[in-house]
Amino acid sequence: MTPFQTIAMVDWSGGNDTGPKPRKDAIWACIARAEAREDPVYLRTRHLAEDWLDDLIETELAAGRRLMLGFDFPFGYPAGFARAIAGTDDPLILWDWFANRIEDAPDRNNRFDLAGQINRGFGGQGPFWGNGLKRDIAGLPRNKQVYRNPFPDRRAVEHLAKGSFTCWQMSGAGAVGGQVMMGLPVLARLRHRFAGQIAVWPFEALDKPVAFVEIWPSLTLGASPADRIRDAWQVERVVRQIAGLPVGELAQKLTVEAPEEGWILGVDQNQSTITPPPLRNDCFALPAGVNWTPVDEALALLRDRLSPVAPIEEIPVTEGLGRVLAEDCVALRANPPQANTAVDGYGFSGGLPEGVHVLPLVEGRSAAGASFGGVVPAGHAIRVLTGATLPDGVDTIALQEDVTVEPGRIALNGPLKPGANARQAGEDVARGDIVLTADRVLSAADLALATAVGIARLRVRKPLKVAVLSTGDELTEPGEDAGQDGIYDANRPMLLAALRAFGHEPVDMGWVGDDRAALKQRLDDAAQAADAILTSGGASDGDEDHMSALLRAAGAMQEWRIAIKPGRPLALGLWGGTPVFGLPGNPVAALVCTLIFARPALAQLAGAGWPKPQAYDLPAAFEKRKKPGRREYLRARVREGRVEVFASEGSGRISGLSWAEGLVELGDGACHIRPGDPVRYIPYASFGL
Ligand code: AMP
Ligand code: MG
Repeated sequence: MTPFQTIAMVDWSGGNDTGPKPRKDAIWACIARAEAREDPVYLRTRHLAEDWLDDLIETELAAGRRLMLGFDFPFGYPAGFARAIAGTDDPLILWDWFANRIEDAPDRNNRFDLAGQINRGFGGQGPFWGNGLKRDIAGLPRNKQVYRNPFPDRRAVEHLAKGSFTCWQMSGAGAVGGQVMMGLPVLARLRHRFAGQIAVWPFEALDKPVAFVEIWPSLTLGASPADRIRDAWQVERVVRQIAGLPVGELAQKLTVEAPEEGWILGVDQNQSTITPPPLRNDCFALPAGVNWTPVDEALALLRDRLSPVAPIEEIPVTEGLGRVLAEDCVALRANPPQANTAVDGYGFSGGLPEGVHVLPLVEGRSAAGASFGGVVPAGHAIRVLTGATLPDGVDTIALQEDVTVEPGRIALNGPLKPGANARQAGEDVARGDIVLTADRVLSAADLALATAVGIARLRVRKPLKVAVLSTGDELTEPGEDAGQDGIYDANRPMLLAALRAFGHEPVDMGWVGDDRAALKQRLDDAAQAADAILTSGGASDGDEDHMSALLRAAGAMQEWRIAIKPGRPLALGLWGGTPVFGLPGNPVAALVCTLIFARPALAQLAGAGWPKPQAYDLPAAFEKRKKPGRREYLRARVREGRVEVFASEGSGRISGLSWAEGLVELGDGACHIRPGDPVRYIPYASFGL
């Protein structure tokens, strides 16, 4: 591929003039040329942006520089739309179709009207949704309650780029629907104005001086610094990132087949081979006729049905801490690679019998990283330093403290065993040994081991993204006035923190009231943003228990009646293919269910196997009678070698959760525990907390 001398990126906007002061959600652009890195440019309207693009293309063409121009909106719609609208699968004809219909003035444009008009052609419930205007538009649903999409919701690439928005959503934070509609006409005009000079990726061969490329900065960039406008920071980062790519690597990223829908630069098209298959729809189904499922049976079901969903990536060993290995690590070399000395001293061949020995010294020495190249003759000794490869003719070392050194010779007392103080090649690890197995969560020591045996890069799972959502009209954000009826949302910080401790990437989805439509929308968002969802509250079958009602209505939920206390009820289901753990609202029950059920299930989804917490049998410092038929967990801690339990078993008692340092597990059968009887104590630390 002929290299690009100039990389530019435009972060588009579907909105109106945002005023003279640079601000977010407007159009931002940035240029990187080999010799100069420019600051981001603020373009307050699309008209200014079009002029800016016009100038840029003209300048680069005149200067004979190849220009790659990135835009952050889809160049195509999901399969079938172009044909239905413009009579062809060719997305560039669809560009012209939009260019002929979109009216765009700085203070008003017709994107919502056009979306409504298109929708009316399909029965008026979709494919577009979302209306940013006060007035209603016939056929354009304001939300997804009456929404029906005759086309796929997402392009193929959007299934691989988790967190991307669909081009059907016309309003709301992050919606790209408006951007596509308001962006494609501008690109279409530029294409015609510079006919024959612009190639559109990935629809056309990149053999023209200018390439238009779809780039989604959030795919590769993390959070922006607090003091920067995100869009401005992103365009700057992206152009610098791309300008720094080796030509071959960029060419490889540009090698993509997506003739109708288009693609996002950087999303690996062969990913399907390493992205695990989705979960089966019935993965949360319970056996028919079962009323109260014992905990162990419930866990065994989850363990069987869930499989890793986290994709695989390759990273340098130095970034491996806490990551989950996706495949076994095989030693590329032995440890130690060569026989070497474990001490500072003098080396020679064979052991020494009892008595005094005087050995002539060979000139030179063997040090770590600078070994002696020659051969040490039998009966001679050589100076060696810890870690030095043993020279030929040396297999035994005498400690320097045990040796008298004189010019040209040493004296020492026997006996000394052959091989003393030497480390044999491969005595720790042989080349080809499996040193770490797939599923392992990497520790600091594991990184040392992998590095020692010659491994520089690791294939690991991407961190599992887990959304956390609280439900309930009574909930209040910390710092706000909770009023008389309100309570603070205590579950969310607890669950977010627990997920981080488990090694996942928590995604805070806030809280929603007891409102079915709002909850449905939030679940949709969460399913897009994350690989799994934890909700708390609303999981029973009361009037305001919308969580269970929604999952049930979607046909994707099982209310698991598990014989556990505290913990009822637990709702498990798939929402848009994403597993949902509907935890009880009571904080104690929410945490116990998280530790006992969600933690191993999430580990399985993350590719880390099925962790069993280490438990300890310790004498009880309490008395308790328990009926048969369910497993019980008590808040507990160890003092003076005995297990104490919290005074109250009330499942709203958050103070007991914090008082405790672990849980006591009481088996399913009946029991009467007296002080001194052994009980099973599981420290929070065994759960990774
Ligand atoms: P629910 O499961 O929605 O019936 O809630 C059971 C109990 O847990 C009620 O007393 C709720 O007020 C309480 N609760 C629900 N969600 C939370 C939360 N996020 N933080 C603290 N308490 C909660
Ligand atoms: Mg509730």
